Amino acid sequence: MSSARRLRGHDRIVVKIGSALLVEKGSLKREWLQALVDDVVSLAESGSEMLIVSSGSIALGRGILGLPSGPLKLEDSQAAASVGQIALAQAYSEALAGHGKKAGQILLTLGDTEERRRYLNARATIGTLLRMGAVPIVNENDTVATSEIRYGDNDRLAARVATMASADCLVLLSDIDGLYTAPPADNPDAIFLPEVPRITREIESMAGSAGSELSRGGMKTKIEAGKIATSAGTSMVITSGKALNPLKRLDEGARCTWFPALASPASARKAWIGGHLELKGEIHLDQGAVKALLSGKSLLPAGVTRVDGQFGRGDAVTLRGPDGGLIGRGLIAYDQSEAVLIAGRNSREIETIVGYPGRAEMIHRDDLAVEDALLA
Ligand code: GLU
Repeated sequence: MSSARRLRGHDRIVVKIGSALLVEKGSLKREWLQALVDDVVSLAESGSEMLIVSSGSIALGRGILGLPSGPLKLEDSQAAASVGQIALAQAYSEALAGHGKKAGQILLTLGDTEERRRYLNARATIGTLLRMGAVPIVNENDTVATSEIRYGDNDRLAARVATMASADCLVLLSDIDGLYTAPPADNPDAIFLPEVPRITREIESMAGSAGSELSRGGMKTKIEAGKIATSAGTSMVITSGKALNPLKRLDEGARCTWFPALASPASARKAWIGGHLELKGEIHLDQGAVKALLSGKSLLPAGVTRVDGQFGRGDAVTLRGPDGGLIGRGLIAYDQSEAVLIAGRNSREIETIVGYPGRAEMIHRDDLAVEDALLA
């Protein structure tokens, strides 16, 4: 039953906030935001790393610019997002500052989470912000996103951010408290579902497509988000964000629908790296590097004896031992031309060789999938 599940205790939680919760008649609901931030800080203090994906820039900018209600042209909504995003980020920054916490703004487009080079950069920045104790505040970069490169809804963006950050929990705060067998407003017989163990076709058909004027995402995009999240090792929960302190309420047993993860974030990521990517090159390792990898360490350039193939930063490559045996696969942090130059060298020399302070690891341990047979 869902009541047994809590937010508290998760390692890394992404909270997605819809425009309708945060903005009313073009103005920010400050009291609601402060209460939400109180909940976020309380979870952070109990040991969870917290990220926020917040909508609201267009709704807020529309109010600030005095634009009429109703659908906006793309350029107008981009201009509204541009004005609104400053106000939005400032509001989070101020609310967090009340608790002595810092906010870091991250604006993403679809390509940033799909193209592996940019994906590695965004993932690294999110990791660094969290290590520094700052709360990443993420939104779509609406001002530059055209229809081909935009998510258009923050439910899916939040799911991508959660999987990119290897979060183990994604909370979608909505204007509805979870998933019903039919839209409850039109159907008195609709049954509430506290847990969805697997997103089947039947579940997808229950989701329909409704959405309010402010939030693009209806239940349909939430189910899409659930598919992305659960298959990458992130559990998802949908609950109502209407009342103050929705995260606290959730942990106190408020109604919600849980979508449990199908694996852990680490094993799902290893499966992704190990299974589905086109391999662009081969990196040959000395015995020391093989030993380091088998004990869970990153691959440093010093242990690389040869680099074959044509690849760019973020591409997947095969790793082979001194006898040519398969050791595993990984996402490489350097372009082929640089990897060749730093192979066999000490990480301290990287800056002199490539001309900028590159990463110490050629492949970070989070981006490695070592052959299971070797680990047994
Ligand atoms: N990125 C948009 C905004 O901040 C909202 C998209 C959504 O609500 O799903 O206004």
